[in-house]
Amino acid sequence: MGERTTDNTQRINKTVTTATGQTLMEIYNLLFAAFGPQNWWPAETELEMMVGAILTQNTSWNNVEKAIQNLKERDLLSASGLGEVPASILAGYIRPAGYYNLKAKRLKNLIKFIENEYNGDIDRLFSPDTDTVRKGLLSVKGIGLETADSIILYGAGRPLFVVDTYTHRILARHGLIQEEAGYNDVQLFLMDNLPHDVELFKEFHALIVKTGKDFCRRRPLCSNCPLENLNREQYG
Ligand code: SF4
Repeated sequence: MGERTTDNTQRINKTVTTATGQTLMEIYNLLFAAFGPQNWWPAETELEMMVGAILTQNTSWNNVEKAIQNLKERDLLSASGLGEVPASILAGYIRPAGYYNLKAKRLKNLIKFIENEYNGDIDRLFSPDTDTVRKGLLSVKGIGLETADSIILYGAGRPLFVVDTYTHRILARHGLIQEEAGYNDVQLFLMDNLPHDVELFKEFHALIVKTGKDFCRRRPLCSNCPLENLNREQYG
């Protein structure tokens, strides 16, 4: 959850050799210059990060913060705390994050998985190779690709690019991927063309989300976007 530095940005630029990789780094640099470090993921522990990754599904971070604060105030932000609290009570505490009954079940599923498979030890959860960690997380009901990969990147600190709607939209609108590309296609494209640098991936994903929210909406606001001078092919 560290910050980027100018030195790191320069070092990463030097390692990119393909034209596509250079275009991606140009995007990164334009966004970083415009928005600065986003300081993702804002969490004090790996568990808090994972809880946030589930709570942020289909809602804004402001709402997640309120839900997490509720859990902290009740000293529930631990594997044992979340394991012991009944789902119906938990749902009430995380109400600000929306879909609270569903998310309470998902949190309980995650905690049960960590408890059953890793004896509640998150270090053990994160210790196998990335594919194994990913498969394990995806086996938890309610954890999909984006949530699993967010946990792997921001929680475990492994270099895996997180793809979301904004990533797809921005890359497609600039002609870098096909509109019909699926999650894994987009991730492979990014992984093939960028250095596998955890800090780069953390910051890049956060900057893409910021760009998507502020500019690359369904109806794009290109005229003030940091990427306005980059080649664009589609707007739909
Ligand atoms: S808003 Fe326009 S310029 Fe900005 S990323 Fe989207 S398509 Fe590109």
